[in-house]
Amino acid sequence: MRRVTRSSALLGESRRFRAAGDRIGFVPTMGYLHEGHLSLVRRAREENERVFVSLFVNPLQFAPGEDFRTYPRDLVRDRGLLRDEGVDVLFEPPVDGLYPDGFATRVHVDRLGDRLCGAFRPGHFDGVTTVVAKLLGAADPDRLYLGQKDYQQAMLLSRMIRDLDRAVRVVVCPTVREQDGLAMSSRNAYLTRPQRDFAPELYASLRSVADRIESGEIRTASGARGAVRKRLEGGPGRLEYVEILSAEDLEEVRRLRGRMVLALAYHLGRARLIDNVLIRLSPRERRRAPAASRRAGGRGVRAGGRSLRRGGRV
Ligand code: AMP
Repeated sequence: MRRVTRSSALLGESRRFRAAGDRIGFVPTMGYLHEGHLSLVRRAREENERVFVSLFVNPLQFAPGEDFRTYPRDLVRDRGLLRDEGVDVLFEPPVDGLYPDGFATRVHVDRLGDRLCGAFRPGHFDGVTTVVAKLLGAADPDRLYLGQKDYQQAMLLSRMIRDLDRAVRVVVCPTVREQDGLAMSSRNAYLTRPQRDFAPELYASLRSVADRIESGEIRTASGARGAVRKRLEGGPGRLEYVEILSAEDLEEVRRLRGRMVLALAYHLGRARLIDNVLIRLSPRERRRAPAASRRAGGRGVRAGGRSLRRGGRV
């Protein structure tokens, strides 16, 4: 595994492999790796001759008062994990390498960032799109691997790639969960024991409401939001938002139908946790009995103008 710290060196690696006809899969991360990250790396490994990973805690996507300074970091462990996965090139830029004095550019995607996390973290997605635009410029990959856990982020980046005519295929991979359903996240490290015991309720509430929508028991967006709220009421944290939106464009849905994403953010102690499930509702499925209506996974996700594969239950 080659480790490089400069964008120009990353681009050099990319050109060298591309000249040899190798395809490059790229996985951008903020490190403190877990199985969710590694699932992306493995998928990239399967589908490309070369795998590039970046480890960079991106200050541009943290607002003042958020956890940039205290975000968990363990570079030595991360390097070992990535080496074991057969990663070819690891990019570890210093902050002033990507953002030298005078850096003044932001990449902004309209509309898709208005709701969900975008409504509560001003500037966050501009930070994400800006850094990923820079990383894509330097890594010049064939495929970009993203997690469904950050669904809005994946939608925004797919849109950006399409709008900027980048020839990169976006692959969105299913959310990897702990045994009890909690979505893996670097920020889970912040949870105390009692908070960790409660945390699986987030996914459980989304899953149960998704099932009730699919069975036809819940028929309205407000009913869906209310049912999640009710289930999390009295918990040890604070629900920031729960939304059910069109999975295609993150716009509000007047009637529950088609492909939707049910998503929430919840503050639990120091951690702000997010999670989502995808729901697909066809007229036929709405009439099905609850027991037969629990599948949402295994279908293609369209984003960035491409069919994105995902598998398993989300
Ligand atoms: P992060 O390091 O949190 O910025 O995440 C880097 C990439 O890993 C993003 O594309 C995330 O969506 C993805 N990711 C994070 N957690 C998970 C998870 N539990 N399952 C699948 N992908 C994940």
